[in-house]
Amino acid sequence: MAKRYEGGCHCGAVRYSCEQEPEYTFYCHCTDCQKTTGSPVSMELMVPDATFKSTGEVTSYVVTGDSGNAVTRCHCSNCGSGVFLTCASDPGYIFIKVGSLDDASWVEPQMHIFTASKQKWLGINDGLPQFAGMPPVE
Ligand SMILES: [Zn+2]
Ligand SMILES: [Zn+2]
Repeated sequence: MAKRYEGGCHCGAVRYSCEQEPEYTFYCHCTDCQKTTGSPVSMELMVPDATFKSTGEVTSYVVTGDSGNAVTRCHCSNCGSGVFLTCASDPGYIFIKVGSLDDASWVEPQMHIFTASKQKWLGINDGLPQFAGMPPVE
């Protein structure tokens, strides 16, 4: 049975729910994620968007990501929290920021991507695969 999970921004104006298992879970070390989150790394779930529903006003910020594709980053219009994003390279999928989940205890990270721009002082010792850029397509 599909898992149902919910999340939202810090102030609660943006809320979402989804009922599909993530296809991938990853730490992204790209420079855009570093800048837009103010953190050395962003952790995200790549989820089919068929059952994804969100409420509340988001501000969309479109940039060309390190992959060369348009990335639409959606932040709460009130508190500015990054909540989810979409990538032109992956239509039909939504990328949920793990920190926005109400309960992220069930998440199992699978890999690190864009480690070419990883901060040198951030150590990785979890044994997960690391990719300098996008992971190879299966
Ligand atoms: Zn908010
Ligand atoms: Zn990134």
